[in-house]
Amino acid sequence: MKKNDNKSMGKRPDNSRGTAAASEPEPGIVITCEHGGNRIPSRYRGLFTFHQALLQTHRGYDPGALLMAQDLAKAFAAPMVSSTVSRLLVDLNRSVGNPAQFFEATAREPAALRQQILQMHYAPYRAKAEHLARQAVARHGRVVHISSHSFTPELDGEVRQADIGLLYDPTRPGEVELCARWKAALKAHACDLVVRRNYPYQGKGDGLASWFRRQLTPDAYIGVELEINQKHVFAGGPPWTALRKLIVASLRNALQGRTRLF
Ligand SMILES: [Zn+2]
Repeated sequence: MKKNDNKSMGKRPDNSRGTAAASEPEPGIVITCEHGGNRIPSRYRGLFTFHQALLQTHRGYDPGALLMAQDLAKAFAAPMVSSTVSRLLVDLNRSVGNPAQFFEATAREPAALRQQILQMHYAPYRAKAEHLARQAVARHGRVVHISSHSFTPELDGEVRQADIGLLYDPTRPGEVELCARWKAALKAHACDLVVRRNYPYQGKGDGLASWFRRQLTPDAYIGVELEINQKHVFAGGPPWTALRKLIVASLRNALQGRTRLF
């Protein structure tokens, strides 16, 4: 039986009706988490017999990203789509045709198998994300999409110099403004926190957000990939909980800044 790997939770209450008219409409918020887990569905487990250790690493998933996404979805009563299937089966944050979409274990299998994986695990995720984003645009006129990720503290010997990264497209003014505000709000509450923009990756690179940007205009779509240093996830405990709360509160501040977002 086909298992539903992609879960959505919550339904954004339509608080645009019956409330006092604001000077400008609230954007709808959609939360996604492409790298939420490291599960391999049973029918594909044979491909990963010799990659069990890798599945446990940052190559297999983004530790902490799902919990962060759930906190954001709950706090903003926002719809969410997430996956707990490992990115090593298929990377939901890469476009079809990108060589990085498939790990070597699946890349060397017959094309029909990759097609099957795309149909069962990739297309439904993208369709759900697109549905939620378009629904938010229809209801609110625009959508703020937060894609929750985390990054390894050290990659190929390089120690990453940030606690939080905010990735966006610098040519989209709404994204520039929201991330500037979000960073300022984070720093206002925790001045020691190192928050960097478009680090450790470029926001305009291939991914779910850049896919949305090709479909939705800058007036309708603001996409931000939130990247958290996994050292905070692994340290755990109250500081990790406090960091997630800070991220939620600072995003709320950034969104509520009454100067125009666009
Ligand atoms: Zn990720």
